[in-house]
Amino acid sequence: MKTLLSAETIAQRVRELGKDISESYGDTPFIMLVILKGSFIFAADIARAITAPNFTMDFVRLSSYAGTSSTGKVAIHNDDVERLKGSKILIVEDIVDTGNTLVWFKEYLNQNGVTDVKICSLLEKSSVHQNRITIDFCGFDIPDKFVVGYGLDVDGKLRQLPYIAEYKGES
Ligand code: 5GP
Repeated sequence: MKTLLSAETIAQRVRELGKDISESYGDTPFIMLVILKGSFIFAADIARAITAPNFTMDFVRLSSYAGTSSTGKVAIHNDDVERLKGSKILIVEDIVDTGNTLVWFKEYLNQNGVTDVKICSLLEKSSVHQNRITIDFCGFDIPDKFVVGYGLDVDGKLRQLPYIAEYKGES
């Protein structure tokens, strides 16, 4: 597998993102809403890089991928959004590919009365989503390749890699 982003490169960028998020929110309370499962490692690191004091963490599971391609249909596995109403939300996502997941999820939140929503994504494939969605805090813009590691999986595997690599189908 070809390493795309080393552990050191990721750590450095996560520190910068933590600083940007802290400056943006200051003392204002917000909920960091982590999209499971792929964002769990990024979320653990970014949470510890944020020095703004007033945030809590919450989790929601969305899914749209099977193997290495998007199913195009987004499913939510914990749809109790009442708890989010009236709060500022910072979505933490691992990667924005087509943008389908977050376009759908933002709309879903809006329809349920959750309107103050910002997005932090470690990765984006801007050549694929072509500005369908605004990412307020983005780590890296990567080429249109399927990547694994640092929380990102292929059929549940390889999430544990400390770096991000391009996956070409090898085991
Ligand atoms: P989108 O809806 O933006 O096309 O895709 C979002 C979700 O698809 C991500 O949260 C992630 O779970 C999955 N995904 C998209 N691209 C990749 C990729 O390159 N590698 C992995 N492992 N998952 C991806």
